[in-house]
Amino acid sequence: MESQQSHNQLHVTFLPYPTPGHMIPMIDTARLFAKHGVNVTIIATHANASTFQKSIDSDFNSGYSIKTQLIPFPSAQVGLPDGVENIKDGTSLEMLGKISSGILMLQDPIENLFHDLRPDCIVTDQMYAWTVEAAAKLGIPRIHYYSSSYFSNCVFHFIMKYRPHNNLVSDTQKFTVPGLPHTIEMTPLQLPDWLRTKNSVTAYFEPMFESEKRSYGTLYNSFHELESDYVKLGKTTLGIKSWCVGPVSARANKDDEKKASRGHVEEIGKEEEWLNWLNSKQNESVLYVSFGSLTRLENDQIVEIAHGLENSGHNFIWVVRKNERDESENSFLQDFEARMKESKKGYIIWNWAPQLLILDHPATGGIVTHCGWNSILESLNSGLPMITWPIFAEQFYNEKLLVDVLKIGVGVGAKVNKLWNSPSEGIVVKRGEIVKAVEILMGSGQESKEMRMRAKKLGDAAKRTIEEGGHSHNNLILLIDELKSLKKSKSLGEKAD
Ligand code: UDP
Repeated sequence: MESQQSHNQLHVTFLPYPTPGHMIPMIDTARLFAKHGVNVTIIATHANASTFQKSIDSDFNSGYSIKTQLIPFPSAQVGLPDGVENIKDGTSLEMLGKISSGILMLQDPIENLFHDLRPDCIVTDQMYAWTVEAAAKLGIPRIHYYSSSYFSNCVFHFIMKYRPHNNLVSDTQKFTVPGLPHTIEMTPLQLPDWLRTKNSVTAYFEPMFESEKRSYGTLYNSFHELESDYVKLGKTTLGIKSWCVGPVSARANKDDEKKASRGHVEEIGKEEEWLNWLNSKQNESVLYVSFGSLTRLENDQIVEIAHGLENSGHNFIWVVRKNERDESENSFLQDFEARMKESKKGYIIWNWAPQLLILDHPATGGIVTHCGWNSILESLNSGLPMITWPIFAEQFYNEKLLVDVLKIGVGVGAKVNKLWNSPSEGIVVKRGEIVKAVEILMGSGQESKEMRMRAKKLGDAAKRTIEEGGHSHNNLILLIDELKSLKKSKSLGEKAD
């Protein structure tokens, strides 16, 4: 009976891409599949698995069929020290290149694993275009996991198709993104450089988008109520099936212990300190400032942020990823940190923050975000309005969704899309612009009140959609049922042969 049962059980293998913004939501999605009775295997290298294994063990011990399949990272071959296996550890372009090469070298061992594991379906990150062919060889569906909004995928699609940024008189001239139900204006400088003008990276990203069309469908960590126009548009323009099942993080990490143990917790400082600091503040009075897991800002920008936050007079909690390149930054920030400790106006968290706990804390009243999709969903889930400060990739599109479509964000005025660890070259957002945005968001004006109200409404919708009967909950069940039917018809076909 045991083996009969496990033989019939749907087996889905998940392949996350090793960067927190892609890995965290995929692991949470995999855990939700297991909670719905699916037999789940997650493929990961050792150091990456160590960031989520605790949750997998806890789910397994609660009776769910979920496990991690480890593969070794080729550290020696690419010349990296042991344990450096995640894009977030790429503090220089050279290191980033080595980590990316190591990830590319995993293709053969992963294909062999797919072959040995014989899953009924693979859910693989958008970055692994080659898994389309791997799934075809095994005769199983490949689901494309897109780790951002429908909105951003639609914008990518239309900009790649129509190239509305070509032939403008300058890189700062505005153009309207074609094909969208809202008027969205951007400048060429806000596009990723590989899309602005074709370069060596274009040859990497174009096949990635193209691979989506050859997949069985796309899985989104989003929800219907948030971007229904773009869910519809995405389904029609991209021409493949899709399911939005988010926000997965809120759904998979309901209790505080799970929220606290998510991500790179080994880098978190003493809990009591930041918690005591937040506990001492009035409700909704603190601005949380975070640029996600990858971005390391340079000293000139750090100085402007510090002065901007201090001059705004509002309370803030600011996550700073250490920048090993610049000693002067460290001494400036140490002085600043000491001054903030004394005035009790600001608190610095070094490297990694327990983001879900901070966003959920009643003292937190808003966030300055780089518009990474996970941070947006997590802020929304806590009903928080945002100051938008995009840095790279599709973050400038997400900003448009927040500011122009949903009207729950104030733009700080970021103008140039650049890789997260590239030099600022003097292009910084000035302290005055920061103060202006903070005053609008955290002040008591009408604009702030209305944004706050809209964000709370979306926060309520985010909570409802993942509960029984909600859109995201239903979508997940529909997808799992569809995969089960595929498995059944495949095995009937095999029997008939
Ligand atoms: N994160 C965190 N603590 C940090 C920085 C990031 O918990 O100090 C988490 C954050 O909650 C989110 C993910 O890492 O789930 C970052 O993803 P996002 O899409 O926001 O941005 P990215 O890091 O990919 O730029």
